[in-house]
Amino acid sequence: MTTKAAPQHQHASLFPIQGNELIIGGIKISQLAQRIGQTPFYAYDRELLNQRMTDLRHAMPPDLKIHYAIKANPMPALVQHMASLVDGFDLASAKEMQTALNTPMSAQHISLAGPGKRPEELSQAIAAGITLHVESAHELETIAQISQTTGLQTSIAIRINPAFELKASGMKMGGGPKQFGIDEEQTPDILKRIKELELNFVGFHIYSGSQNLKADSIIDAQQKSLALADQLSKYCPSPIKKLNIGGGYGIPYFPGEAPLNIQQIGAALDTEMAHFKKNHPDTEIIIELGRYLVGEAGLYICQVIDKKISRGQTYLVVNGGLHHHLAASGNFGQVIRKNYPVAIANKMQCAEMETVNIVGPLCTPLDILGDKMHLPKAEIGDFVAVYQSGAYGYSASPHQFLSQPDCVEALI
Ligand SMILES: *Cc1c(COP(=O)(O)O)cnc(C)c1O
Repeated sequence: MTTKAAPQHQHASLFPIQGNELIIGGIKISQLAQRIGQTPFYAYDRELLNQRMTDLRHAMPPDLKIHYAIKANPMPALVQHMASLVDGFDLASAKEMQTALNTPMSAQHISLAGPGKRPEELSQAIAAGITLHVESAHELETIAQISQTTGLQTSIAIRINPAFELKASGMKMGGGPKQFGIDEEQTPDILKRIKELELNFVGFHIYSGSQNLKADSIIDAQQKSLALADQLSKYCPSPIKKLNIGGGYGIPYFPGEAPLNIQQIGAALDTEMAHFKKNHPDTEIIIELGRYLVGEAGLYICQVIDKKISRGQTYLVVNGGLHHHLAASGNFGQVIRKNYPVAIANKMQCAEMETVNIVGPLCTPLDILGDKMHLPKAEIGDFVAVYQSGAYGYSASPHQFLSQPDCVEALI
């Protein structure tokens, strides 16, 4: 089944091509694979990370602080690079804290959130002097006890589970009953307790969702977050120093999805922030982004190791799969499986096309990287590139599953 060339996909333009080859950080795919010494691997492009932050800063209000949520991609070299670009880091565990503290980022600009923080984690965070986002009444008491025993204090912010939700989100994390944060209705009582315990209150964290491509929904959530913080300020023991209004900025993965309009979001936020600052002139306003900052700068690269036909359908069997890239296989929170954008990375301008299924080596029918994709005709040894792989890739995948060889990560 062969037809004439069709455009590969909408994201191909982020990574240049030279002849038939995809270029990553100025290096041809074949040469990069040789340099790395194996496939599969993840490659993250430093220049694309820089470009993304430059564009974002340009669109956002100048006094807005932009944090990187390390869980999107905790590769130490990448986090080190991000330290030079962003204003702070948001963490989800003590291990991420060690990665963050190995960079030049000051502890003052690092915060830890997440339900179920273990007492050891809390005590490490307090000793480090990073901001703790408290998610329950019990956690608050544990923090107070640790502070009393050790004589060390750190900054405390309350993570609020807002009554509103981020509409049209890939993953909702606010509105209704949730394991995250403290319900907004319970917040006045918690603030009273913070005062009694004489803890160092600094502000609020309001995170309402992830992977959103609708500027209107994000603008709505940001506006509601600022309004909620303003309402709650009358219960606060001291002025709000830090207000993290979340993020949820998405990237396009699938056909028909368009990039987020950050100009529109930035303009709306500028107005809302000016309004908020009338009553709260000294509040630092923060957004925290993971996927948006790093997702489009990464590729997952594997190689075709077999090609076969089963009852009329062509299968490319590759040496990588869901054990390295769960999200691309469609098993990381997708309801209906869709193909991530994929290219045959050494046949970028090849005219002869065919429809193929791209599958990994695992003994499970879930190990799919491409379902009936129209791609240049590939042979054994060719490189398969999965785009939009810089976030929730390697660290969000079950590496041990079926005991296959591991993959490597490189920042180029
Ligand atoms: C996961 C998470 C993020 C990052 O989400 P992205 O969709 O990658 O931007 C930020 N903040 C909190 C609290 C999170 O749980």
